[in-house]
Amino acid sequence: MSPQNILISGGGLGGLSCALALAERGFEVTLLEKAAEFTEIGYGIQLGPNATRILKKFDLWDDAAKTAVFPEAMVFLDALDMKPWARIDLNAAFAARFKHPYVVIHRRDLLGFWLAACQRHPRITLHTSRGLARIADKTTHVEVECEDGSAFTGRCLIGCEGLLSPSRQYVVGDGAPRVTGFLAYRGVIPMDRLHDRTYEKSVIGWFGHNIHLVQYGLRAGDVLNNVAVFGSAAFARGEEDFGSPEELHAMFAQAHPRVRDFLEFIDLDRNWMMRDRHPVSNWTRGNVTLLGDAAHPTLQYVAQGACMAFEDSVVLSDCLARRLQDPHQAFLEYQEKRYLRCARIVLTARAFGSVLHAGGIERDLRNAIYRPRSPDSLHYEVDWIYRGIRETEI
Ligand SMILES: Cc1cc2nc3c(=O)[nH]c(=O)nc-3n(C[C@H](O)[C@H](O)[C@H](O)COP(=O)(O)OP(=O)(O)OC[C@H]3O[C@@H](n4cnc5c(N)ncnc54)[C@H](O)[C@@H]3O)c2cc1C
Repeated sequence: MSPQNILISGGGLGGLSCALALAERGFEVTLLEKAAEFTEIGYGIQLGPNATRILKKFDLWDDAAKTAVFPEAMVFLDALDMKPWARIDLNAAFAARFKHPYVVIHRRDLLGFWLAACQRHPRITLHTSRGLARIADKTTHVEVECEDGSAFTGRCLIGCEGLLSPSRQYVVGDGAPRVTGFLAYRGVIPMDRLHDRTYEKSVIGWFGHNIHLVQYGLRAGDVLNNVAVFGSAAFARGEEDFGSPEELHAMFAQAHPRVRDFLEFIDLDRNWMMRDRHPVSNWTRGNVTLLGDAAHPTLQYVAQGACMAFEDSVVLSDCLARRLQDPHQAFLEYQEKRYLRCARIVLTARAFGSVLHAGGIERDLRNAIYRPRSPDSLHYEVDWIYRGIRETEI
């Protein structure tokens, strides 16, 4: 074991970005991924300027920019009357303020760029089919055992296994995540199936009472990503079986017929439950820490879960590089720098979800408050998110 060998468990966007950030700081990294291959789901993801600047830092930007879409704006529309209630321009004023662009990109492309950089890196060793099962912190080093009986040793361990992270149960021990009763169905279609192209150059969302549908282009605008989300009435009634395609359609019955038509673009074979965890201030135990969704899983309503994982990776690698001999102290410093910002994302996402999903008089109030706001004035509202971590940390 090299004294600088660091174990990472989980090879999603969080684990791979962490591996590259640490290797660039001179560490030897061994990454253990449970699945048989590194992969992401075949849908899109939004990245704010706080994340695109990190892609630039790791020389992934040239590849990303070739396939990403650069939307003109984020447009928030009422799903019932189809009228816009807010718009955030991603224009010259946005670029001047945040210095880096807002993009939407295919998840597999994005994961592929991080993966290829990790595969090329001489200090990174990647293993698949290695699901972490047990952790033993021996103070001077950490031993882990995988589900197949294989064992690995490192100076310390970073748990990046996402929402259901076993490392989190070792460190925090807070059991299952919070189930919100909201579910997402997704679909990607060729762009030419979209008849009304009014908003094809923007990220748009149609919002109704406990429903929304988000659409944006991917792969240089060749395809359209669709995400339909709804709060399940069956879940609210305490039923165990909830979230069926029939429920999706029933919830969207309130929407304008032209919005309902977009459900044709949704793949009904699979759905994703919306879950998060209440923020914690301590996600470190001895020589083990957490990163990304393992540390601070969030709802998607401010589109920042993966962006936070990238920021974590930069800050964590910086803290470890300055405290080579003391990973525990480095991990405490990292979590101190990160926990409030990540908690703010988690709690803002919950609160903004209520705004997005408002019905009745709350919907009227939302529309009345936001409609007079100018597109550029909303840049102030997202300033704390998109400015990202301090220049000195990147
Ligand atoms: C509907 C939806 C939309 C979203 N939209 C956005 C968006 O627009 N922008 C954004 O920034 N974020 C978005 N997010 C959030 C984002 O997807 C997550 O925050 C991000 O993928 C988390 O990355 P991660 O690497 O921490 O976890 P994961 O992506 O969950 O990766 C965890 C990895 O660990 C592996 N693993 C699991 N168990 C083990 C084990 N025992 N041992 C080893 N490996 C293990 C898994 O196989 C997986 O590869 C969205 C989320 C949802 C649900």
